[in-house]
Formats: sequence, C-alpha cells, structure tokens
Amino acid sequence: MAKHGKDTPMMQQYLAVKRQYPDAFLFYRIGDFYELFYDDALKGSQLLELTLTARDKRAPDPIPMCGVPHHAADNYINILVDHGYKVAICEQMEDPKKAVGMVKREVIQLVTPGTTTNIHPGEAKKNNYLSALMPLAKGYAFAYGDVSTGELKVAILDDLFAVENELQALASLEIVVPPDLPAEVTTALKRGDRLLSVQTDDGQKHSEISYVTQNLDDAAEIQVVGLLVRYMLSTQKRSLAHIQKAVAYEPAAYLEMDADARRNLDILANSRTGKKGDSLLGLMDSTKTAMGGRLLRTWLERPLIKQKAVERRHAQVQTMLDHFFERTELADALTGVYDLERLAGRVAFGSVNGRDLLQLASSLDQIPKLQDVLARMGDASLDEYQQLDPVTDVADLIHRSIDEEAPISVTEGGVIRDGYDAKLDHYREINRDSKEFIAQLQSREREATGIHNLKVKYTSVFGYFIEVTNSNLGLVPEDRYDRKQTLTNAERFTTPELKEKETEILEAKASSTALEYDIFTKVREQIKEQIERLQTLAKQVAALDVLQSFAQVAESQHFVRPQMASGSRDLEIVAGRHPVVENVIGKAAYIPNNVEMSGDVDMLLITGPNMSGKSTYMRQLALIVILAQAGSFLPADSAQLPIFDHIFTRIGAADDLASGQSTFMVEMMEANEALSHATNRSLILFDEIGRGTATYDGMALAQAIIEYLHDHVHAKTLFSTHYHELTALEQSLAHLKNVHVGATMENGQLIFEHKMLAGPADKSYGIHVAKLAGMPEELLKRADSILTVLEGKGDAKVPLARDTSAAPATPETTAEVAVAPVETAASAATDTREPDQSETQHGEQQLALFAEPETPKAKPLSKKQQAVLKELNDFDLLSANPMGAMNLIFELQKKLK
Ligand code: ADP
Repeated sequence: MAKHGKDTPMMQQYLAVKRQYPDAFLFYRIGDFYELFYDDALKGSQLLELTLTARDKRAPDPIPMCGVPHHAADNYINILVDHGYKVAICEQMEDPKKAVGMVKREVIQLVTPGTTTNIHPGEAKKNNYLSALMPLAKGYAFAYGDVSTGELKVAILDDLFAVENELQALASLEIVVPPDLPAEVTTALKRGDRLLSVQTDDGQKHSEISYVTQNLDDAAEIQVVGLLVRYMLSTQKRSLAHIQKAVAYEPAAYLEMDADARRNLDILANSRTGKKGDSLLGLMDSTKTAMGGRLLRTWLERPLIKQKAVERRHAQVQTMLDHFFERTELADALTGVYDLERLAGRVAFGSVNGRDLLQLASSLDQIPKLQDVLARMGDASLDEYQQLDPVTDVADLIHRSIDEEAPISVTEGGVIRDGYDAKLDHYREINRDSKEFIAQLQSREREATGIHNLKVKYTSVFGYFIEVTNSNLGLVPEDRYDRKQTLTNAERFTTPELKEKETEILEAKASSTALEYDIFTKVREQIKEQIERLQTLAKQVAALDVLQSFAQVAESQHFVRPQMASGSRDLEIVAGRHPVVENVIGKAAYIPNNVEMSGDVDMLLITGPNMSGKSTYMRQLALIVILAQAGSFLPADSAQLPIFDHIFTRIGAADDLASGQSTFMVEMMEANEALSHATNRSLILFDEIGRGTATYDGMALAQAIIEYLHDHVHAKTLFSTHYHELTALEQSLAHLKNVHVGATMENGQLIFEHKMLAGPADKSYGIHVAKLAGMPEELLKRADSILTVLEGKGDAKVPLARDTSAAPATPETTAEVAVAPVETAASAATDTREPDQSETQHGEQQLALFAEPETPKAKPLSKKQQAVLKELNDFDLLSANPMGAMNLIFELQKKLK
C-alpha cells in the first residue's frame, strides 16, 4: 500500500483501521457507500466488477478507489466471502451531521468464510463449520462449530491424517490456529484452499467461553474451544448467547471412514459431478426441515457403532412405517417448521426481524401437532420424543407482540401489534388523528379557495405542505399561506397551523418508531432467555424428521429392516442392491446380489471382466453397512450384519496431483492405512490392488496383501482382482472364498450378467471389453495373438515384429519376448495365464512368481542378476509389511538397471 505523506485525516483513520485487518477487504463506510481503497480497490473492482476510480484524481499519486451502495453491500460481501476472502465492515458510529471533527468509525463485523451466517438458497440443509486446531505434545486438539446454529464439538485427534479426515468430513473452509504453527502443519492444513486464521489468546475472560467449556475436563479441549470461540467473538463482535456447551466426541465412537472412503462411496456428493443428487444423501433425503436435512448428513457421516443405539433407530423407523397415516401427518406438520436452530441463532445475534419471529412462532405452533401424532403412535420406541417442549410462552409472546404484517426492517415501525403497549398505541392514535386532520384540512382549503385539485401532501424531506398547481395560483387568497417551495408546475405552501401539526405528527412518529424498536428489542431479549429450550426442541424435531425420512425412503425404495448379528461376525445379505446405481439405471435394470460371509469367511476374492459390476458390488456392501449403522433400513430382501468399526477403501485410481504423489504411491498408502489400522471388526474394500505397477510386482504385492490380511487382520474384506492366479489361494487360505461376476459370450459378443456367482471366473475378458469400447479391429487381433502366445497355447514362434511371417525367433530372444509383452505391450487385463496349482500353494509360490521363464537354453545370469536373485530369495516375505515389500522391489529393480 502506498504511503501518502499528506494523508487527509479521513485517510489516516482509514489506514489505522486497515492496519488492524491486513488480510481482509475493508468496507469503509462514507455516507451511503462502502468504499474500498488501494489494493482492496484494485482487487475488489475486478472481483466485484466495479468501476475503479481514484480519490483526488489530480494528485500525482491518486489513491485507487471503488465503492458499493450500503443497501446492496451484503451481495458484494457474500461474493468476496464465497471466493474465500474476509471482509471487515467499518461503520460510521455517529451521525455525520452531528459529529464534531472526524466521524467516529469502527469495524462492526469481520465476515469470513467459516463464520458467515449467510445461507445460500438451497443450502439450508448444510452446516458451515469453522474449525480450530492446536498441536499438542502428542496429537492435536480439534474443535468445530457453526456460528449460525451454535453447535460446538471438540476432540483429541492422533495425527494429521485424522485431522484431515475430520476437516473433509465437515467440509470446513476456515481453520483457526494459534500463532507459531509448525510449517508442516500449516502446509497440511492449507490443502483444498482452506483459510488459516491466526488467533492469539489475549488473556481476556469471556462469559461465553466459560459457559461453553463448562462440561469439559481436558485442559487441551478447553483451550482449543477457547481458541475457536475467541475467534468467533472477535469476528462477530456481538453476543453469542446461542453457542451451545461444547460436546467432546471421539471419532472412534462412530463408524470411521477416511476422507477417500467417503468420496469413493459417494456418500454426501457424487465424486464425479460433485452434486448431492446422485449420492447416498441425495437418495435418502426426504426430510422436511433444514435441521432434519443437516442431521441426516451427520448421521450418514457418522454412523453409530453401539448395537443398542443402532437397533433403537431401526425400531423407531419400524414404528414410523407401521403408522402410515400418523407419519403423513407428522411430515405435514414438519413442513410447517422453519429452521428453529438458525432462528435461535439470529435471536442471540440480534439480527432477527419481525418476520423471523413470526416464523419462529408458527413453527412452535406445529409442536402440539407433533405431540399429538406421537401420542397416537403410542410406541415405546419413540418414548424419548414424548416430552417435546412446545415453548408455548415464546410462541404466545410473539403472537401477542408482533404484527402479522411486520416488515423486514425493525427500525421503521409497523413491527409491534396494536394493543401490546399502551404508550405505542397512544402515539399511533396521534398518527391516526393526524391523518384525519390532513384530510379535513384538504377539504376545508379546497372549499375556501375553490381549488379542486389542491392537495395536502407529505414528503420525508419537506414534511407537510399544501400544493397548488400553477394554473390555480391565481385563486389563492393573498396572505392565506406561507410559501415553502417552488416547483416547475406547482407551488408548495404551509400555514402556522399546519406547521404546528407537522411538529406534533413527526415527533409522535419518531417517538413511536423508537419506542417500537425498544419494545422489539425487549421481546427479543425475552426470547433469548429461552434459547437453550429452543435448541433442545430443534434437536428433537430434527431427529424425528430424519426418522420419518428413513421410513419414507424405506417404503418408496423397498428397503428391509436389518438384523444386527449379536456376538457373531456373520454377514449375509440376500438380494442386496446399490441404492444409488439402482436409482439411476432403474429398478428393473438392476440385478440384486447376495453377499455371504458367514463367521469364518473373512475375504471374498472377486474376479470377473471389467465393467461387470465388481466395484459396484463392493460399494454396495459398504453403503448397506453405513445405512444400517446410521439407523436406516436397507436395499435388500434381507440382511444380517455385524457392527463394523471402520470402513477402509482402496477404490479407483485417482492421482493425488495436489500432493505430487503417483497413483501407485497413493494406492500403497491407502492399502497400508487399512493394513495397519483395521481390526477384525473392520470392513475393507480393495479394488484391483497392484494394478498401478508392473504385472509381477503388482501380483506379488496383491498376494502378499491378501495373505497378510488373512493371517493377521481378519477384517471382512472384499478384494477384486484381475490376477486369476490369485484365485488358487482359496485352497490354502481357509477364510478366503472365490466369487466371480458372471459373463457369457454370445456370437462373439460379451454379455455382462452383473450376477455374483461362487467360484473363480473362467478367464479375463479384457480384449472383449476393449472390443466393446470400439478399439480398432487390427489392434484387437494383435492382442489376441499375443495372448495366445502368453497363454502358452501357441507354438514358441512368438511374433517378434508385427509382421507375423517373420522368421522363427531364436530361443534366446523368445525368452525375452515372453516376459516383455506382459509388462509393456499387453495390458494387465490380458494377462490370463492359467495358474499352476503347484506354483500357487501358500508360502511356496513367491519364488515361482519371480522365477525365470523356463527356456531351452537360458542365458547365464550376470553377477548382478545373481545377487538380486539371492537377495530376493533371502527376503522374509511373511514377516514383512507390504510397504517393505514394495521398497524391496524398488531397490531390486534399481540394481537390475
Ligand atoms: P467393474 O468394477 O467390474 O469394472 P463396475 O462395478 O464399475 O464394474 O460396473 C460397471 C457398470 O455396470 C456400472 O456402471 C453399472 O451401470 C453396471 N452395473 C454394475 N452392477 C450392476 C448390477 N448389479 N445390475 C445392473 N447393472 C450393474
């Protein structure tokens, strides 16, 4: 920012304020505009498409400037905040007309991405979470809250991985941090365009902080909540009476899923389109209220792991299903309930208006209807909702005090009902009388002057006057009126009587609006006292809304009630469906599938052609587990499930470009996450692990991972693979079962059946899928001939060149060619060599995988190669982890080069 030697006092004031908010756009109020200066103006004019001008244009170094009208400021502020910026709103704190010297100005609010309470249309069912993070000697203290609803939670997290999971699950845009955050933490947090806001502890005591931390014992939790709330206070600069007591939580108390799993499973939004529509949330959302919508999101994000609590929700959904008519009435009543949580927030904030209060009252009027419906359902499962508090005192107060036609503004009158306040009624009477007086004056003067179009009028600038058009001026008796204003076609007059009345009317009006505002504030303060009751009610209403939504979806989508296996790990799903895919392709087109994993089966090894439905099947199981533990019924004919503690996924092959990691590295890291953290109560979905590297090391890793999971982890695992060799593992791994997706060939065309069948697939269909994709005929033929060679069915005359009539290869070159196409020309999917039983016996096949292809006259091995072989042979694979195996392969390959 330029430094001006001779800044005016106003610019000095501006610069002083700006210094306190260097990272925000400063909206500096001057009269009816908010002005932006210097860099704010340069950048702001671009982002907001405003005309850039300059203050004091003739100066040698004019100050860039642009402005927005104050009444339209909200729109502009929202645009900047949506872009991830902060906006400091600096107001005039006194009437410029009355100010002596410089008008006093202060920043009244700092609007930021994580604290904005502006809700975009269609996003009422989403929270805007502000997070706070504090590194500890071990782990991190983490808190999050929503300024608009007052929700506040806190947890201690182990590592940055866990922090990232929380941030992604919450879609948090802004993180409050203490000063001196280690650089690696800053880098990790800034991923995904998040804003970091530093908050210092000024040591000041705030009643809000002592209130919200009263149920916390852990010093670190208290500190991080203090950090969060201190930032909220410093940005909002007003009462935060609605911020609720912080609740400590543990991510492990819910079904855990990492950020990739949530994304891969399209739980809250479709990972390809980013839209809620084609996601689990989109399908499940039949909620009627904004609060219900937000709670449904939370339930799907954090399914339960306590069997009793899960089953209680199932029983509640069952009750709703059993009472169709009552449920319909319940849904109707809920439709009339506005966002109680956010209305309560606005009451506390002081930003509530008359219409908001009317919405609050009409929402509360619905509660007795809910009570009535619940009583008629009369089921013990809903006992926890039988004690709804309709907060009648607040509803009554609003009905008595607020005018049904209240305008949006709370400062211009018309908000308070007649009959609520005697003094206000008196002022209003004066006002009504004065109207009559004006009417009488007009007719009296018309009669006295004979001017039929004479009018008595009022404007806010000129007050009351008598208006006579120029053509009638001659009729005005001399000295009857005092001239007030001349227009082109009329003259405006006043009289001593009218002047006196004008003073009386305007005084009454001013007193009446001031009094109304005062009464309104008192009503608001009275409601503020009841905020906790409103918040409790809001939570119960939200839960009832989600339960009726579960019932509604269960009915329309033909879901069944799950049986949660107690004491066993049996998993059996009959005719399960992927609810979102089914919804997209239509019920008739979707082929339901069973999942049978009785207690001793831990792993299904899934083979079948690409595009046959392997990953849909895997995702289907995960979604069924999530739905069951969220309390919903399921898309299946019947389902028995154990409770899972964690879902791990390795699906898809997206490069993590942002962090510069290769597909394969990400694949290995995700796999490692599961290997090191999964328990025998976890669910693991591994989709074609090992595909990101060359065939042999990919297959070796896949097999080692399967064995490790089988021997050490015992999690329920679905493992899809195109390595047919691995299906032989069923013979040696007692808890592994082969299944495959059926596909048939009809007239050379591959037909997908999407049906999961027992046993391994007979072969890969990679080339057929390539054909379906429309690849050139010549290429497909070439792939077919390479495949024939690789399968060892053809003679040894491998076509070296594309010209298949080339001379037969020498034995030496044959040896090289037999391996090379697997790694280069042929895709992994075409590698369909039949597994050799003796090679794939558990524990023995590792060497076989890496053995030199048998050739009549093998080339003698170089020293380097021999050393590599020895190292490989000596490697204790069974006690190594997959990462170790990968590193070894990497080292060995390096040595061979
Ligand atoms: P894979 O993982 O075997 O490559 P996908 O699971 O991605 O295959 O499925 C490919 C497509 O097949 C899906 O987009 C879907 O349209 C269809 N599909 C998958 N499973 C089914 C099913 N059970 N019924 C009908 N269509 C299915």
